[in-house]
Amino acid sequence: MNPSAAMKDGSQLRQKEMIAEHYSRLAHSPHTGEKSVYTFVPGNLTELVRSFDLLPVLPEINALQSAMRGKSKDYIAIAEKLGHSEDVCTYVKCDVGMKRSGNLGPTGEHLPDPDLLLLSYTGCFTFMKWFELLKEEYKAPVAMLHVPYQAEGRITTAARDYVVRQLKESVIPKLEQVSGRKYDEDKLKEMLARSSRAEDDLVHVLESAKHRPSPIDAYFGGVYYIGPIFTAFRGTEEAVGYYRALRSEVDERIAMGKGPVTPDGEMERERFRLVVEGPPNWTSFRQFWKMFADEGAVVVASTYTKVGGVYDNGFRHDPERPLETLAEYCLGCYTNLNLPTRVDMLCRYVEEYGADGLLVNSIKSCNSFSAGQLMMLREVERRTGRPAGFVESDLVDPRYFSAANIKNRLESYFQMIEQKRAGGAA
Ligand code: SF4
Repeated sequence: MNPSAAMKDGSQLRQKEMIAEHYSRLAHSPHTGEKSVYTFVPGNLTELVRSFDLLPVLPEINALQSAMRGKSKDYIAIAEKLGHSEDVCTYVKCDVGMKRSGNLGPTGEHLPDPDLLLLSYTGCFTFMKWFELLKEEYKAPVAMLHVPYQAEGRITTAARDYVVRQLKESVIPKLEQVSGRKYDEDKLKEMLARSSRAEDDLVHVLESAKHRPSPIDAYFGGVYYIGPIFTAFRGTEEAVGYYRALRSEVDERIAMGKGPVTPDGEMERERFRLVVEGPPNWTSFRQFWKMFADEGAVVVASTYTKVGGVYDNGFRHDPERPLETLAEYCLGCYTNLNLPTRVDMLCRYVEEYGADGLLVNSIKSCNSFSAGQLMMLREVERRTGRPAGFVESDLVDPRYFSAANIKNRLESYFQMIEQKRAGGAA
């Protein structure tokens, strides 16, 4: 199907516009004098960066946008020719190839070189290697924020204080240097208060999937919903407005008893309710989504929508403790949680969202996310008594999206759910 003909709801269109406006602002920054900071989605310090009037750039978002526009295949080929092996995370290769091809963003405009690489190291070792490469490519300064892994399954005071110390002694001085401005705590507090308001509305939207039928798809639709808050907008008025409008849109769908909007329009009948672990495939995103929608399968909760912040456990940015709250945010991202905590979270989702089971989309080149997924799958199956399924694809490398294979596996999984239901009813 022609992706441009796909159905979109109002919020999807609005988030697309917001992100396009941000890219356009970046493209014009050499003329406006605005400076940019490259950083990562998990553990991003958007409010802090923007409190210095610096613009965030997220290389993971650039990579997935390139994949959705069909550019990633060529970018990956360029990186492989440079010597990056097949096993390297495809986000990294796509980013390197994009840089070598003129660094054109999704609007087709040139993205500015970074004035600073803000390496927030949150749970994935690849982040470090990725920014080592970018340091070479751009000869840009690096600010490193080391976020300790939540090995004990909780945020310790020592870990939080360690992150706060780095913010004070290393990250803020670098941001001051690059921006030429002094740290303004009042401005940061205002931004954090706005983050908290947007986070309340985002959680309301995600939790709306507890309704039957679910008014949203919390994975395929969910990636649109997290767009503004995971990219450059946390702490802005635009984000507050977006999430308020999204919340009303979803409340309206609940009131009318409507299911989610899929690429082919509204889903008429909800047949399966799933929890999904692992990022989506971006090169065949709509085709992948359609395989679920055609079967009446709705994702009611996903872990991918928590990589840039886990808010449905009650965490909110707290303007009264600005640096402590940023530290706790970084420590609490999904990528930084240990495997038992991830299993607890998945089991909770299966129970609370009334799901038929757990489906894992394992990403070939994401060693960080894929590690432990089979253990997680078995453990969730054992604890909830509901069937689990497993498919494999990749983030942005189209060579690893085998549509026929995935479709077969999904069909078998849906049959398994039906058999289980029939057994339960017997
Ligand atoms: S979490 Fe996975 S996709 Fe993200 S940088 Fe690490 S390896 Fe790559």
